[in-house]
Amino acid sequence: MKMTQNSSPSCLDPIDARPRARRLTRAVTVGRVHVGGGVPVVVQSMTNTDTADVLGTAMQVAELARAGSELVRITVNNEAAARAVPHIRDRLLALNMDVPLVGDFHYNGHKLLTDFPACAEALAKFRINPGNVGSGAKRDPQFAAIVELACRYDKPVRIGVNWGSLDPSVLARIMDENAGRAEPRDAGAVMREALVVSALESAAKAEEYGLAGNRIILSAKVSSVQDLIAVYRDLANRSDYALHLGLTEAGMGSKGIVASTAALAVLLQEGIGDTIRISLTPEPGGSRTQEVVVAQEILQTMGLRAFTPMVTACPGCGRTTSTFFQELASGIQDYVRKQMPVWRDQYDGVENMTLAVMGCVVNGPGESKHANIGISLPGTGETPAAPVYVDGEKFVTLRGDNIGAEFKAIVDDYVATKYVKKSG
Ligand code: SF4
Repeated sequence: MKMTQNSSPSCLDPIDARPRARRLTRAVTVGRVHVGGGVPVVVQSMTNTDTADVLGTAMQVAELARAGSELVRITVNNEAAARAVPHIRDRLLALNMDVPLVGDFHYNGHKLLTDFPACAEALAKFRINPGNVGSGAKRDPQFAAIVELACRYDKPVRIGVNWGSLDPSVLARIMDENAGRAEPRDAGAVMREALVVSALESAAKAEEYGLAGNRIILSAKVSSVQDLIAVYRDLANRSDYALHLGLTEAGMGSKGIVASTAALAVLLQEGIGDTIRISLTPEPGGSRTQEVVVAQEILQTMGLRAFTPMVTACPGCGRTTSTFFQELASGIQDYVRKQMPVWRDQYDGVENMTLAVMGCVVNGPGESKHANIGISLPGTGETPAAPVYVDGEKFVTLRGDNIGAEFKAIVDDYVATKYVKKSG
């Protein structure tokens, strides 16, 4: 291989594995949660219950919060929903869950927030879409009414633009301006510009109506990965508002996860984004909490935050033909995730613990030594013994039919002895 001058081993620069520094945005307080201003990226989610169903909605909010959602959005689409909001909040407080609730308003938000002051009071943030605030001559006064209510109740507002409901007046104006250009841009570029302009002009208008810049969060969601990256780069260049990231209508299963991760990872790596939501369509019968788990895993695998101990596992191959290895890897990941709410209350730092479950001795011991606790299961034809490494040192070799339970006991002991106990 021919080496160029720059690839000479003697003049290599250190290989930097850090994401770009977080872009400094205005700090916004949402209930007891801080968004923007350089604090760690916040995870949020949204319920899919009928908000008028107080118990069902409170239970789902609690489930999402227990999974790690730091803000939970609920739709407030009619009077029954608006009436239910304070009761949902009270039920959550009775469960000792002070998770900030975000009200999602379309078309009638100004009226609901006026007619149901207890709803406005109970919410920690209002989310409005400038394309759905009202049409024609009603749009500006209804937008102003919501902003004035946000000021009156001291609530921040997310101005959430969505390409599926882009303000038609902004789009028409940008199209006209484009038509007048010597070299008109393509339809995609016009749409992206309209999204950004709609978000920025709405924020400027909200400030005119009295909302402080540190009470505004912006989002501009599309369902295409490349469009999302382009739009948020532009938003980040043109303002310092806190930004909520999310690929809208990401879809179901692996497609939704991959598309959301592809888009958000690029932006987060560039220091863009203060809060994220993964808009997954749940599988039939699947848990709503999957969107929280995916959001956490994006942030944790990128090294931006730590939420729960991560399990490194090899993919398996022809050297390991039993399913025991897969069962142990998935059982341990489930186990630590379920234990985390308890561990979080008892110990500091346990979320940074790393585990490795490997299928044979080829890469097993090496990978195990990099983890806090690692196990290499016997591959096909190997001695039926599973060496366990703790903090890089050989700790024990497990044998027999009880390897899974014994490994979990080692994990429990490690947590109890290595992490600082919280007082009280
Ligand atoms: S560690 Fe062993 S079982 Fe796992 S992928 Fe590598 S060779 Fe295959």
